Amino acid sequence: MSQTNPTQPERFDFHPAELHSKYLLERDKRLRTDGNAQYVDMTGSLEELVHDPYVEPGFSRAPVVREVDVAIFGGGFAGLLSAAELKRLGVEDLLIVEQGGDFGGTWYWNRYPGVRCDIESYIYLPLLEEVGTVPSEKYAHGAEIFAHCQRLGQHFRLYDQALFQTSVKNAVWDDDAGRWLVETDRGDQIRARFVVAANGSMHLPKLPGIPGLETFEGKAFHTSRWDYRYTGGDSGGNLTGLAGKRVAIVGSGATAIQITPIVAEWAEHLYVFQRTPSGVDARNNRNTDPAWFGGQPAGWQRRRMDNFLSVVMGVQEIDDMVDDRWTSVWSRLNGPAPTGSDGLPSDPDLARQMLDYETMEGVRARVGSIVSDPKTAEALKPWYNFFCKRPLYSDTYLQAFNRRNVTLVDTHGKGVERVKETAIHHAGEDFPVDLIIFATGFRTGSYVFDGGRYRIVGRDGLTLGEKWASGVRSLHGIQAHQFPNLFIIGGYAQASAGINYQNIAAPQADYVGAAISTALSNNYKVIEVSKSAEDRWAQAMIDKHMDRSKFESECTPGYYNNEGSAKEGPSLWSSLYGGGPLEYIEVCREWSRNGMHRDMIITPGEAPAAVGGLSIQSAG
Ligand code: NDP
Repeated sequence: MSQTNPTQPERFDFHPAELHSKYLLERDKRLRTDGNAQYVDMTGSLEELVHDPYVEPGFSRAPVVREVDVAIFGGGFAGLLSAAELKRLGVEDLLIVEQGGDFGGTWYWNRYPGVRCDIESYIYLPLLEEVGTVPSEKYAHGAEIFAHCQRLGQHFRLYDQALFQTSVKNAVWDDDAGRWLVETDRGDQIRARFVVAANGSMHLPKLPGIPGLETFEGKAFHTSRWDYRYTGGDSGGNLTGLAGKRVAIVGSGATAIQITPIVAEWAEHLYVFQRTPSGVDARNNRNTDPAWFGGQPAGWQRRRMDNFLSVVMGVQEIDDMVDDRWTSVWSRLNGPAPTGSDGLPSDPDLARQMLDYETMEGVRARVGSIVSDPKTAEALKPWYNFFCKRPLYSDTYLQAFNRRNVTLVDTHGKGVERVKETAIHHAGEDFPVDLIIFATGFRTGSYVFDGGRYRIVGRDGLTLGEKWASGVRSLHGIQAHQFPNLFIIGGYAQASAGINYQNIAAPQADYVGAAISTALSNNYKVIEVSKSAEDRWAQAMIDKHMDRSKFESECTPGYYNNEGSAKEGPSLWSSLYGGGPLEYIEVCREWSRNGMHRDMIITPGEAPAAVGGLSIQSAG
């Protein structure tokens, strides 16, 4: 945030210097020294909070001993897209290891009432054209997205190739055999020529380490493990089990804003414990027009996805196909600032900052126009720059605070103070509750082995954890030297992120599909990214690095900026490739075409197949 005092242009009825001071004041209230350590994993006495509520307990099966071409860790979108692409390219011998009881990943676990994706369904649900799904609304309900994941599993015949309710424990490279030896928690022994680690980087639920948490005698769960046996109903609502119940929601982020209006409808009383208000803009959901959908030309979905990313990154496109709050606001804030005109300063940074203030003033004014109690409205206003926290969209969240059975407990940036046996205690007051719902999010950006809670052991006994202990070294965040025949997708480190997860997952899946199918069809036993290729990407990461440290240091704490603690290492955004997602996608596409014979050390198999005109060579 640039904070020299821009001249107050007539167009703006706010004072930049005052807003800047207010933002810093609100940030300071929230700064703390423990960073990410304020959160606890749900292990030990809290472990029962992460049990899978969607499967029957007691599942068992005989261990599987198998040899496969490709083992995929994770059956969420990244795993499904990789499997679909591999099958499209003729690679059939796959095995997917998935912790949940079905495909879906995020959409398997998050079945809370009101769950939706706030990215347009026509660009978020992948392979719509291939599978034939027609989303019913512009912003799809979670159950529909989960059903689409299941449909992908059926369409690509993946159900017979999946081990559900199974977690990888170890993946160890056997150099002589040219195989990964994969062990699972169900005693499976899988020998795989290739491994695709697609187990997510934002799926480990976290709880704030609130004193007294384990003493609570009522019911408690995390939103990603919703217990409908207790609440009744389903993700559409009808939570009859909450009749007569006093409920607390801890958190006010993306998940909380979706559950609040529905819980409010069914609980006797709802307390929302807020630490930092989210910026909540209008949603404007609508039903899909079947005529419009049916009239889309072949290949429309990828074009629409590309168009969305391009527009939100500020590229001047003729057409804004998605045309929603993401595209209108992001294009304005990311595009070339219209400096020196329309009342804006001539310095582009200052001009952009003025646009940001203006945007957030609009978000704050919306709170005032919806929430009738002025004190509650004031507490719900977000005081930070637009890109400091994830922007949210809802037409029902703020409205819920006008209900008489809903109380906002504003913790003024401090968070919940203490949990007691039958109450949440805050600021000298006990709030008796029967149920605590933790809408407190997930560990973010964890490395693949942390996220999967398994070890990856490459050449010479080196673990990926050891290799990355003092910083990630990879090619494109997807491959690592000394870890042959291994591909990582869906991670953030040295890779990229668009607003729409699918924008990055799709080219990464194509990349992995191209590499593995080329290796298999050419009978390459081992493909390993060269050190020089890894070094080249390390240099690109340095060359393209965008220093966001000043901006992030002025943001209110959150997972975007390591909870405001600079000592935690690179923040989520600065661990990404600084060239941005559009460039990253081009890098992936170029690599899929040309990378194999430029960047890989290739060991041919014993009976080399025809190499299709390409010579086998060693990269440096
Ligand atoms: P978030 O991390 O976004 O939110 C966690 C919430 O818990 C924050 O409001 C946080 O406050 C609050 N919190 C943390 N500690 C305490 C405490 N001690 N006392 C009170 N409150 C506390 O998690 P979500 O599950 O909401 O969302 C995670 C991510 O999942 C989103 O950011 C988004 O990327 C994705 N998502 C996407 C959706 C979509 O529609 N596409 C829908 C839902 C989730 P504070 O802000 O102060 O840290």
